Amino acid sequence: MRSYVADLHIHSCLSPCGSLRMSPQAIVDAAVDRGIDVIALTDHNTCEMGPVVAHTAKKAGLAFLYGIEIQTREEVHLLAYFNDANACNALSEEVYAYLPDVRNDPEYFGDQVVVDEQDNIIRTEEKLLLNSIALSLEDVTERVRAHGGLPVPAHIDRGAFSLLGQLGFFPETTVYPIVEVWGATVPNECGQRAILRSSDAHEPEQIGRRTSVLTMERVSVEEILLAAAGVGGRSIRSEES
Ligand SMILES: [Zn+2]
Ligand SMILES: [Zn+2]
Repeated sequence: MRSYVADLHIHSCLSPCGSLRMSPQAIVDAAVDRGIDVIALTDHNTCEMGPVVAHTAKKAGLAFLYGIEIQTREEVHLLAYFNDANACNALSEEVYAYLPDVRNDPEYFGDQVVVDEQDNIIRTEEKLLLNSIALSLEDVTERVRAHGGLPVPAHIDRGAFSLLGQLGFFPETTVYPIVEVWGATVPNECGQRAILRSSDAHEPEQIGRRTSVLTMERVSVEEILLAAAGVGGRSIRSEES
């Protein structure tokens, strides 16, 4: 058993709102600098940058989870975590297909670029990624689970783009053993759910501003679920830093 300092909500330069400075190396350098052991990349409605950040992270000795932050039809942000790139990519392709065909305006929303490990621009994404897809929260949650992913409602205590902000309650049809909380106070609606805190970093300086400590045997979606249930001494503790 080991305790891992985790920041599981980080945006790269591919997210329009993510700084162009959020390159794979800059993300990994900042995480190492803050004493983080495991990161997840969670760009809006895509995981295309996952493999390059994973490779950079592993070279630096960081554990990595593949992730994506999906914006559902109800304007709810749902994080999804995966052990492997293929499963995350399969979900990401479904999400992309349900993303409206609206072109990004880089002047207004920011650039959406895919870069390699040396910061070379590989391509520019033309479709606006920061948009609601044409699938409900329930449908997206089922798809995440069908691909073996872990769905985690994002920043549920924020007024905008959050499950509680948009719906005001947890829908009975969906199961979330873990939720992400932004502020210091955990809303009553969370009940006995495990609480994850992460940075939602859009700039390198923001990485690690919120972290969680995951005590478990290894870094995997299955182990995180066991930690949420407190099985065998595993745990999830979250901190504001
Ligand atoms: Zn969000
Ligand atoms: Zn985010």
